[in-house]
Order: sequence, then structure tokens, then C-alpha cells
Amino acid sequence: MKVLVPVKRVVDFNVKVRVKSDGSGVDLANVKMSMNPFCEIAVEEAVRMKEKGVVSEIIAVSVGPTQAQETIRTALAMGADRGILVETDQTVEPLAVAKLLAKIVADENPDLVILGKQAIDDDSNQTGQMLAALLDWPQGTFASELVKEDDHLLLTREVDGGLQTLKMNVPAVITTDLRLNEPRYASLPNIMKAKRKPIDTKTPDDYGVDITPRLEVITTEEPAARSAGVILETVADLVDKLKNEAGVL
Ligand code: AMP
Repeated sequence: MKVLVPVKRVVDFNVKVRVKSDGSGVDLANVKMSMNPFCEIAVEEAVRMKEKGVVSEIIAVSVGPTQAQETIRTALAMGADRGILVETDQTVEPLAVAKLLAKIVADENPDLVILGKQAIDDDSNQTGQMLAALLDWPQGTFASELVKEDDHLLLTREVDGGLQTLKMNVPAVITTDLRLNEPRYASLPNIMKAKRKPIDTKTPDDYGVDITPRLEVITTEEPAARSAGVILETVADLVDKLKNEAGVL
């Protein structure tokens, strides 16, 4: 099978983000950027399938600025075979990403597209679902286990009250949940090898996709600061506070 893995460059999950003083968005100046954690899980899953002999080729795709090449290089160092960068400095919303991915799917004919369930910058959780709709392919979202069995996939999802297993035909769109796997760190030799793997650079125009944003961000705000807690000596103190301060008893 051939697998396409879309990987997004986002603010590193360890960074405490700051809102710009004019509320127009998050300050990205001098902020560490990394591969979206759910995309790392997607790359890891594709690489494990390749190691099992189920997958023959992994293509990592990123839509973003020139620096998104680094994100693709990380995927190549983890084990992807080649990359495609769709270069743009504009904000690209999930629908535009899904349209670009649909065009790349038409060019590359993969059997599977494995995406993260959500990007931790916009928290949209939309791209995989939109892509499945555009392609009219089955979708298995929030995968916590993925097994190839004969000519189909068995995909497990954590749902309220238990586990749901889907039997899916390929081609299909999969999105990854946190417990699917633990992504590997790329070894130094693999980082060096990744420098020689090919990355094709394209633009949204090459695919004839209009990426003009359809949403307008009105304002971005810091969450309200929480007041400090207090340690109480006795249960009676707690009951008193719940009754007389919180008003919940
Ligand atoms: P979202 O729908 O924005 O929460 O993103 C879900 C997933 O879609 C991510 O984990 C990526 O796999 C993929 N994706 C979203 N935006 C991009 C992008 N600009 N480049 C590559 N993949 C993306």
C-alpha cells in the first residue's frame, strides 16, 4: 500500500503561547515550531506498517511556509520516503488543506491517507473528515488501533463507554488519536539520511486551489486568570465555604 501522511508545522506543544497585544492572534515571533503531535503519531503508524511489510511507500505532505520543509524532513527522518511541500505564507484553513490533499491524492493514488485527528494550533479537527467527503472515501476517525487484515482494515476507536471497531475498505482516510502509538525519535543517522530524500515543492496555484480564507478571526483572548485555591483545615470549613461562599449547598 502507498500512504500519504499530511504533517502540519505548529507551535511546539511545550510553548506557552502569548496573545498579540492587539488581539489579532497568537504571537509567533521567535517561537519554537514543531510537527503537530497527532501528525507524528500518523507518521509513526505509517512507518510501523512499512516495517511490517504492509506499506511500500510513505509520502509526507505539508502545506505552509518554506520552513514547513523542516517538518517534512522530520517525517523523512522518522521513515517517510519522500515529501511534498505546498508552499504558501497565507493562513490555510482546513477546507483549503483538504482540497489540496484531494488533488495530491488524485496525482499520487495512495491507498491510505493518515492524518492527525487535530492540529494543536487551530484545534479544528476538520481536515480528515473534509478530505474523506471530497474524495467520497470511508473515514475512520480517532484511531487507537489500526490493523490490516486481508484486503481491509480493522480500526479501533475509543468511544463513550467502550471501544468501537470498524471494518473498512481501502482506499480510506484515517485520523489518529493519542493512544495509537508512541512516536519514535529520529536517530542521527536517519536525520542525515533524510537530507538526501526528495521533497517536491509546489504552490496552491499548481493544484488550481483557491486558499483564500473563508473565516474571519474577530478576536483572540487569553483565558481568564483563575484565582488561587486555599487549603482548608476541616470538612466543616469546606461545607461552610460551599454553603456561604460558593452557594452550591
Ligand atoms: P485540523 O483539521 O486543522 O485540526 O488538522 C487535522 C490534521 O490535518 C492534522 O493533524 C494534519 O494531519 C492535517 N493538516 C491540517 N493542516 C495541515 C497543513 N497545513 N499541512 C499538512 N497537514 C495539515
